Amino acid sequence: NQAKQGNQSVGWYTSDLEEKMAWKLGLIRQLRQDFEQRKLEVWYQPQLCFKTLEVTGCEALLRWPSDNGRYISPGIFVPLAENAGLIVDIGQWVLEQACEQQKKLAAMGKPISVAVNVSVPQFKVPNYAQSVKETLLEYDIEPHFIELEVTESVVMDEVGAVVETLTELQELGVEVAIDDFGTGFSSLSYLQKLPFSRLKIDRAFIKDIPDNDSGAIAELVISLGRHLGRKTIAEGVETQAQSDLLKKMGCDEVQGFMYAKPMPSHEFMAFLKSYKPKASD
Ligand code: C2E
Ligand code: MG
Ligand code: MG
Ligand code: MG
Repeated sequence: NQAKQGNQSVGWYTSDLEEKMAWKLGLIRQLRQDFEQRKLEVWYQPQLCFKTLEVTGCEALLRWPSDNGRYISPGIFVPLAENAGLIVDIGQWVLEQACEQQKKLAAMGKPISVAVNVSVPQFKVPNYAQSVKETLLEYDIEPHFIELEVTESVVMDEVGAVVETLTELQELGVEVAIDDFGTGFSSLSYLQKLPFSRLKIDRAFIKDIPDNDSGAIAELVISLGRHLGRKTIAEGVETQAQSDLLKKMGCDEVQGFMYAKPMPSHEFMAFLKSYKPKASD
């Protein structure tokens, strides 16, 4: 760092790499502290049925408030938490928050499902399915109201062990979705063996509609889902053109800023209370 070097004593030197490491370590330390002090938040984004525009579920998404009133993106801190071994505890906390949220929704007369993202290290904890079962029992939640979103990186990690865990989860009655589908290039032959109920089409295959390939990959995933007898949900839908095309292709559900952004718990409850599906054809 040139600027610092100028007025520091001779030999004081930090390479870019060291600086980056220090930045990461500082962030991890702060994250651990903020998690322990219960400063993390879980926000919720609605998921809608394409046909009826009814809200059928929501996705729980971590939020980390920073001092300046802004939020640090989970795209940045979740990978750090994974590497630092923090994601297992944080993930368990998110699951518990999701259970509490589901109870509130049921109490309000809107018993919709809550989807929770699960990282590879969580999946690797021995008896993961058993721990999920215990949490659901503790919170007295019907398993089908909780959906676990796993990415292809989870699936590709150790297929044998993963299939076993997913099977246990399915027997338990929780739903499983394959998140960011199509970005991880997992072998399609694995897909047949995997117990899951939904495919989430990644935003990467949606954001360019109606330009370029006009949703060729989205259409492929939708038809794959149909042939496998699984539901498909499109994530990151921002425009009417995207929505119209995906609906026409037969996509079952939709999640995106066009319908609603992720919201804090109380705001999501208020949203649901006043939400009326607009007439759709
Ligand atoms: P994801 O699971 O694929 O979540 C969907 C992301 O797309 C969310 O980003 C959501 O805010 C964003 N999104 C939804 N609709 C739109 C849209 O119309 N336009 C755009 N531009 N974005 C949209 P977010 O909340 O920043 O989360 C990023 C990623 O961080 C998640 O991707 C997930 O991989 C990870 N993550 C978030 N919460 C958790 C968690 O509790 N546990 C774990 N393990 N990972 C999490
Ligand atoms: Mg997700
Ligand atoms: Mg996703
Ligand atoms: Mg994604």
